[in-house]
Amino acid sequence: MQRSLVLKIIRPYDEKITWENLGYLLRGLSYNVCRMSNYCMTHHLLRSLNLETENLNPQGHLYCYPRLTEEYPDVPAGIICAAEGRARKLYMRNAAGVLRSEKALPSFRKDSSIPIPVAGYSIGRVDADNYVANVQLLSRQGAKAQNMPGRIQLVLASNWRDKNAGRALHQLAEGKLKRGIASIFRNKRDWYISIPYEAETAREKEEFDPELVMGVAFGMQCALAYAFNHSLKRGAIGGEEVLAHQEKYQARKKHIRAQYNWSGRKGHGRGSALKPLQSLYEKERNYRNLTNERYAKWVVEIARKNRCGKIQLDAGSTGQSEGGNILLARWPQSTLRLKIRNKAEAYGIAVQECPDRDIRNRCSRCGATQDAPEDKRWFTCKSCGYGIEDKKTGAQFISMDYNAARNLAKWEETPKGQTAGKSSV
Ligand SMILES: [Zn+2]
Repeated sequence: MQRSLVLKIIRPYDEKITWENLGYLLRGLSYNVCRMSNYCMTHHLLRSLNLETENLNPQGHLYCYPRLTEEYPDVPAGIICAAEGRARKLYMRNAAGVLRSEKALPSFRKDSSIPIPVAGYSIGRVDADNYVANVQLLSRQGAKAQNMPGRIQLVLASNWRDKNAGRALHQLAEGKLKRGIASIFRNKRDWYISIPYEAETAREKEEFDPELVMGVAFGMQCALAYAFNHSLKRGAIGGEEVLAHQEKYQARKKHIRAQYNWSGRKGHGRGSALKPLQSLYEKERNYRNLTNERYAKWVVEIARKNRCGKIQLDAGSTGQSEGGNILLARWPQSTLRLKIRNKAEAYGIAVQECPDRDIRNRCSRCGATQDAPEDKRWFTCKSCGYGIEDKKTGAQFISMDYNAARNLAKWEETPKGQTAGKSSV
């Protein structure tokens, strides 16, 4: 939930800077921000009318930043950027009405607030009850010209009466809350800073059951399969998409290579002949990266929804003898594991990689290990008959991949010397 904290600026922390200096600087900034914002608004309108040709980026969108940094060299680049972004948003919100002549182009007044980008300020604590905002108010060039520090610490009033505000300020100073673009504004004779922040009530409420473990295995029929130790929930990501992609990729690679061989280029021509191949590799890297990102998100979302406190990951038995052919055999699996770990840990879900080589050969019900079965799709246990009935009725069939994921969910680390992965739940 987005909230904001509005605090009065009491004085500059550095005693060498007087209120006179600071007031002058802030008024000047406010005036400049107002002018540049109005410049952006006007040019957005011109752009909409197809009249603007000066401030366009290579994609043909309005981009006033270079022009503004030239015109306002003393203003920090971050503030220019934030002002441009704010003007763009305001224009977009009103564009339809303005272009239909239903309303006037909104404009900024000369005492408009100064937007401060997230990187342009920080909140800190200087002593027991003094908090400061450390704000970049001058560019490097401006600081030199005006003989002032670029970043100025502003002592903030603590709102003692408002307990929530006090706590939020404390958390902001400790860097525990996510801040947004702040703004500095004047009200009558006083200056204030407004700091938006993400109230993390949602995250605090999330409680995970450390006893509930989700096992995630690389599948033979699917890309990834999951199961839990204490519930029968299960699921999988199909691998058709990856297979289709890999087929296309191989074909394309072969095609480019064939072309290269045919052209028979050597020496100078070699580099340019290999360019298409390099760009193909690059694309493939991007594809894998994005896919991994999606997979990791999928896994962590399921863990969150089920409130499970731990994810046990297939440490990857890619060898053919061990796991049979898993679908994501030629795949950056370690990157995927890392992404899952990073995402999960951000929510407080533990992640463990299980070096269990028998997840596909062991029965997840009785724990008996058997030779790799001929059937790569369905799991049946020769000891306890797990899966046999299910295969017949077809209602709750036991796939190899589900069995593997369930083994991982039940996996427990055992001291060295013993066989890892005995499960008896
Ligand atoms: Zn069994």
